[in-house]
Amino acid sequence: MRDFIELAVILPVFNEAKAIDKHFKIIYDTLKQFDSDIHFVIVDDGSIDDTWSIVQGLVKDYGDVKAIRFSRNFGKELAIFAGLESIDAQKYVIMDSDLQHPPKYIKDMLEVMDTENADIVEGVKESRGKESYIYKIVATSFYRLLESLTGLKLENSSDFKIINNRVVSALCAIKEKSLFFRGLVDWVGFKKVEFPFVVDAREDGTSRFTARTLIRLAFTAILSHTSKPLYLTIIASGIMFVLAIILGIQTLYNYVLGHAIGGFTTVIILILFSSSMIMFSLGIIGFYISRIYDEVKGRPRYIIAENHLRDEETHE
Ligand code: UDP
Ligand code: MG
Repeated sequence: MRDFIELAVILPVFNEAKAIDKHFKIIYDTLKQFDSDIHFVIVDDGSIDDTWSIVQGLVKDYGDVKAIRFSRNFGKELAIFAGLESIDAQKYVIMDSDLQHPPKYIKDMLEVMDTENADIVEGVKESRGKESYIYKIVATSFYRLLESLTGLKLENSSDFKIINNRVVSALCAIKEKSLFFRGLVDWVGFKKVEFPFVVDAREDGTSRFTARTLIRLAFTAILSHTSKPLYLTIIASGIMFVLAIILGIQTLYNYVLGHAIGGFTTVIILILFSSSMIMFSLGIIGFYISRIYDEVKGRPRYIIAENHLRDEETHE
């Protein structure tokens, strides 16, 4: 068996040249105070500033720092996965490099992990920190929509997490290309414990996510965790069918009373019923496409947490 290191810290970075040096030193010094067997993996998500040369400097200065550079900006989710896949450890810390996930909490998070015997410790935002009013409204509506469609409750969740190697193996077995890290950590199961923390303000610049990347991430979150929108037309077809019956009766009533223009009754009834039938068939097709989508994703059918299957453990 390979000799796993104790703790790996995964740090995705994107255009952080101005502060990465200072921030990394704070993270490094804080963590090294309580454990020496810690390695760091900095993943440069295709920065276009000087981030990479600074990161290379850090790799040279510290013996326990590794680094990966993407060929372009592939997004934070993939940067996290690249980090997880690059190193074997017992436990993994995933955190932002901008100190908004304060390293001072990690010691307590690790303790909670041990005492509760948990596989996942999830940093939960106690307050959402400084965010604009509009951002808050948009984010809240998105989380409501996500919850109603997928059942994922992620309103105050964050990517600030500690997960053990069982969880990492399960995550790395997922081969999808569009990934939403927080959703997948929820999907793989295992024992989770929440850890409330206060989000500090971003010290340098503003969020590296643009409105466009956030919208793209929101779509990925919904599309990769539910295929419900595909067959929602079934519900619309039901409503349409009820309306068709009501309007059909009214049209026939006018026809019997002689109020209708010639041929009009047939056209209305045909349109009403054929459109509800078309919607219904689209919904049926949607059901099949959603099954195909689930199969194509090729996620593991189940994930085993532990087993007692070996011969020596059976007593006869
Ligand atoms: N980040 C990344 N790729 C991106 C955007 C951000 O690796 O495309 C990194 C960024 O450098 C930081 C972390 O992800 O370490 C969180 O990003 P940021 O602080 O900009 O986002 P927010 O705090 O608004 O979630
Ligand atoms: Mg941040």
